[in-house]
Amino acid sequence: MTKKTILRLAGAYLLTLMAAWAVLWWGFGSGWIRVAPHDRVAGPIILTIAAAFVLFFLFAVICIGVWVHGDARRRGMEPLLWALIVILGPNFLGLVAYLVVRKPLRLPCPSCGQHMPEGASFCPHCRAPQRRLCSACQTPSPDDARFCPHCGAALPDTPPTPS
Ligand SMILES: [Zn+2]
Ligand SMILES: [Zn+2]
Repeated sequence: MTKKTILRLAGAYLLTLMAAWAVLWWGFGSGWIRVAPHDRVAGPIILTIAAAFVLFFLFAVICIGVWVHGDARRRGMEPLLWALIVILGPNFLGLVAYLVVRKPLRLPCPSCGQHMPEGASFCPHCRAPQRRLCSACQTPSPDDARFCPHCGAALPDTPPTPS
């Protein structure tokens, strides 16, 4: 999350809190919310604090959902599905489940550091080969192959060298 996003969230939170406060004051002033005379000072304060807690909890859940959405996308999982599971799951059980089953982060390209799609032979950002290339036909081969699966030529034992 960037600094701008955090500032925006904090702003939205404060605005909602002020709106809740205004509604409460109007409610007490117009007699819409009825309290005993000695509660006229303590009542609004307690209600404001309670509203702040509820709003804080909602914001925490939304922030976690946004983080899971981005994290799942980086790991090649279904982002929206996991965000919903984490937000709607009771007692943060969805978050626990997500942390248990999430896939490892995709390895970045050794040449340019960008994230690679799973099983890619070439980096889509800088074209660096991610597997050994056959010297005869330039076909990428699996890491443990000793001979080219395409033309049968013997493969060098050297790991891929990013160009
Ligand atoms: Zn690259
Ligand atoms: Zn070959």
